[in-house]
Amino acid sequence: MKIRRQKKSQKILAFFQSNFALQAPYTVLLDATFCRAALEGKVLIKEQIPKYLGAQTKIVTTQCIILEVEKLSKISSKLYGTWIVVKQFPVHKCGHEGDPVPASFCAKSLLGKNNPGKYIMASQDPELRSHVHQEVVGTPILYLHQSAPTLEKPTKKVYKLSSHEETTLKTLKRKHFGETIQEPPRKKKKAKNPHSLSCKKSKKVKQANQQKTDGKRKRKRHKRKGGAAKDMSRSE
Ligand SMILES: [Zn+2]
Repeated sequence: MKIRRQKKSQKILAFFQSNFALQAPYTVLLDATFCRAALEGKVLIKEQIPKYLGAQTKIVTTQCIILEVEKLSKISSKLYGTWIVVKQFPVHKCGHEGDPVPASFCAKSLLGKNNPGKYIMASQDPELRSHVHQEVVGTPILYLHQSAPTLEKPTKKVYKLSSHEETTLKTLKRKHFGETIQEPPRKKKKAKNPHSLSCKKSKKVKQANQQKTDGKRKRKRHKRKGGAAKDMSRSE
């Protein structure tokens, strides 16, 4: 595997670790759409996912997910292989035992609003992925991009949430420590070296001044030595 891909995945996982308490060993919740894509792309799920995530990984599915694809495989024989793949994985209790629900509904109910089971959702289903993006907090999404396991980048919403937490923390700190803590006053900008070019008076001002002082002080100027005097004499 390319090192760049590995680095990217570790960066995304680190984000979820520090903001949403995701921890290795990971639990990947797999649906049939992912299994189908894996089958088509000849991806060995059990080998390639832990390798990509760089940690021990438990890959699970649910009864509802298996039952849905089993039903569909009876209608479309193309899905038979997918059913064989998905039913190899351990089944997590989803609360719909004996009363199965559609696969995506089951996954959504397991993830809830903030993914208490700390799952990494593995799916190719665009509707499910967008739901996880929009509605579920702290859930990495794994999909196959040209037959390569890929973690989706956290959405802007997730980033905003973590920055929102930061601001809340700041406000809380301010409340607790109140007025006693004051931000250090900003340093005033020091005037730059007066001899620097930027401090030179503009030519117009210089000329105007010169006109005023022409005559009386002319001799004084000639007494001065060094660069400044030279410069003045040049403009005469
Ligand atoms: Zn279920």
